[in-house]
Amino acid sequence: MPRCHRCETDHDATDLVRHDRRSVLLVHCPTCGCLLGQYRRHGDRPAVDRLKGV
Ligand SMILES: [Zn+2]
Repeated sequence: MPRCHRCETDHDATDLVRHDRRSVLLVHCPTCGCLLGQYRRHGDRPAVDRLKGV
């Protein structure tokens, strides 16, 4: 279960706020809105990978 590094709240993966960008998927904390992670699309290695299992 991903934990926000800012407000230290645990969230279900399904509760996270996702924003699709052209080549990156951004994932934000639903509580404080900070950026939890960003994922490159097209199978590239993620620049940030704090959300294993999502
Ligand atoms: Zn947060």
